[in-house]
Amino acid sequence: MVKFIEKEFKTAINKLKYPDSWFWIRYTINPYSGCEHACIYCDARSQRYYLNDFENEVIVKTNIEKKLDQRLKRARTLLPDVIGLGGVCDGYQQIEKKVENTRKVLKVIAKYRYPINIATKNKLITRDIDVLKNIAKDTWCTVGFSITTINEELASFLEPYSSPPSERLEAMKIIKEKAPEIQVGTYFIPIIPFLEDNDENLEDVIKKSKQAGADFILFSPGLTLRDLQAEFFIKKLKNSKYHSIVKPLLELYKDHVNAPAEYVKKLHPKLLNSCEKYNLPVREKRWIPKDYRKWNYKISELLLNKVYIDELKTGKSNKTMMWAGLNLNNLEESIIDIYKRGELLKIRNFTKKVIEFVEPYLTKSKELKKKTGLDRFL
Ligand code: SF4
Repeated sequence: MVKFIEKEFKTAINKLKYPDSWFWIRYTINPYSGCEHACIYCDARSQRYYLNDFENEVIVKTNIEKKLDQRLKRARTLLPDVIGLGGVCDGYQQIEKKVENTRKVLKVIAKYRYPINIATKNKLITRDIDVLKNIAKDTWCTVGFSITTINEELASFLEPYSSPPSERLEAMKIIKEKAPEIQVGTYFIPIIPFLEDNDENLEDVIKKSKQAGADFILFSPGLTLRDLQAEFFIKKLKNSKYHSIVKPLLELYKDHVNAPAEYVKKLHPKLLNSCEKYNLPVREKRWIPKDYRKWNYKISELLLNKVYIDELKTGKSNKTMMWAGLNLNNLEESIIDIYKRGELLKIRNFTKKVIEFVEPYLTKSKELKKKTGLDRFL
């Protein structure tokens, strides 16, 4: 029996120092603390999230809608940017049907015209297509369904209280049909070694996502195995029909939190090939603001996409380019103006190589051709 505790919180929204380069999130909101879905691999069980009995005790943030409204009303320091909802605790877990905390939050987000990215494992999200559609029309809305297997029996062991994968795919299809302006896709995260990394499952998840209308798929081989979360997961496996994977899993991890790079590298080409086969992008399209940040965000997206794809293909990560892409998001003026002054090298992590890559895009921008000074009278 899950216990629900109603509680008021001081803050409703949290700002990240840099946007998340996978989901393009700049702010996070969690209408609940704790998650009834109780997936047995959930990382929120680890100590770093400070969520005690997170699946048996769910806190309902009763004042979240009011707090959010107050905060966004005086939002000089919170420029509109992508709000991530449900990253740590699913916003569409069962209690949402009754208390509608997520729906209330969405209405406030729609009122102040902020873009949104939602991750969920529950078909209940289709209830809110009306609000999500309005957000998508005004700004940008992305819905990612977390799907790691198509096998319903395995899914009910791993994710006992969320909607079965077939219902998540059906929900994706419904959203795409009713509101094509909403970007939908699959978060194929985590891919659990020895349970979900076989060729059949990899292809199935990608193929079924495409058939359901996915615009993208994000994947991540391996799962984290950290303190309490690792303990819980291994114990569940040991007491199940999947107990035989415990030994190879522990041997693979050898006391590390993440799956070894060699393992991840082996799966990437398979996943990439399958996505290519089904013509499914491996990145989400980013929301681009209309103010001075427009080209900063566009160039940042190009840089971060390049870093990601290069890493998938070569196994090597380009940290300088990654930081160049991230730093761009915090500039207080447009990169176009900096380029016009010939000062790109002054931007943090903008080396000659980075500039070589971004320059052809900048020269194509209409903004660069706009005359802004007295020369506009010539
Ligand atoms: S739905 Fe997400 S947050 Fe909830 S238990 Fe599952 S993995 Fe954790």
